[in-house]
Amino acid sequence: MISDFKYLKPGSVKEALEMLAEHQDDCKIICGGQSLLVIMRQGLISPEYLIDIKGLNDANYLTYDAKDGLKIGATCTHRTVEKSAQVLEKYPVLVEMERKLASIQVRNWGTVAGNLAHGDPAGDPAPVLIAMNGAVKLGSTKGERVVPLDQFYPDLFETAMDHDEIIVEVLVPPSPAKTATKYQKFNLLDSDMGLIGVAVSVTLNGGGVCKDARVVLGSAAPTVIRSSEAEKTLIGARLDDAVFEKAGEAAASECSPVSDIHASEEYRRHLVRVLTKRMAKAAWEQAKISG
Ligand SMILES: Cc1cc2nc3c(=O)[nH]c(=O)nc-3n(C[C@H](O)[C@H](O)[C@H](O)COP(=O)(O)OP(=O)(O)OC[C@H]3O[C@@H](n4cnc5c(N)ncnc54)[C@H](O)[C@@H]3O)c2cc1C
Repeated sequence: MISDFKYLKPGSVKEALEMLAEHQDDCKIICGGQSLLVIMRQGLISPEYLIDIKGLNDANYLTYDAKDGLKIGATCTHRTVEKSAQVLEKYPVLVEMERKLASIQVRNWGTVAGNLAHGDPAGDPAPVLIAMNGAVKLGSTKGERVVPLDQFYPDLFETAMDHDEIIVEVLVPPSPAKTATKYQKFNLLDSDMGLIGVAVSVTLNGGGVCKDARVVLGSAAPTVIRSSEAEKTLIGARLDDAVFEKAGEAAASECSPVSDIHASEEYRRHLVRVLTKRMAKAAWEQAKISG
């Protein structure tokens, strides 16, 4: 059962930040409520105040320009990202990821910012956004700061946000030339969280050698992690099946998944190995033909 709480409904981001500054000691932001209400119903948290930002029009946007890239406002839903023609053109992996995230009902109501703020290591957006060098802009009454997403998760369900901060914007830089990102999760039920999710981004130089790579693992550790060992096997190499195999081995050794009722640790490591290999190859093939 959900404990009683005081419900606050700001009319703007500025007002929301002021309310948060005043009540930060026992307060939660609620947007779509797709994750928050679950843990409130389970009795895991019982905040005295809820600040409902769902209706904030000044945070409901999705913009792209060639200089700054993609900006996703705090109240922008998964479904808006999924249906954006510009996102499909510039960041197709985001659309592919969204199509497999939960159901249309959840995507219609839940937000990308809310998903990232929840800090679930099994969430789909974080690995993809980290592979694309994404960041979050945090706001408070004291000002704004930008935190790269690969530095945003200190521990399980924890983030680098202070109690008086919210994610005001999710930022994705323009994709460099000859770059592609691929993501796949392995789930037992369609529209569910993955047992493992792997995102790989590959950038090639003019000669076809791997100039840069990011290998990001979801559900493979207490937080979403980058596999620096897998990245090292890719960067500087002329990519082929043997290199992809090594990258998969490196990622599987570096991660620290758990055993639970859904899968054993050993099986999850196997999934990391296979998905890393496949996603690195798929990203490489796409990067070769991209502008
Ligand atoms: C049936 C079901 C299936 C799902 N399947 C998947 C799946 O396959 N993959 C996946 O990745 N996710 C999945 N989810 C999770 C869903 O994607 C997230 O719950 C949703 O995106 C969270 O957004 P929200 O706006 O509902 O956040 P809320 O539930 O409102 O908030 C979540 C957390 O973020 C905080 N918060 C919200 N917005 C902000 C902000 N702007 N700044 C700071 N803090 C904020 C809240 O205080 C809370 O702690 C599923 C959820 C359900 C119910």
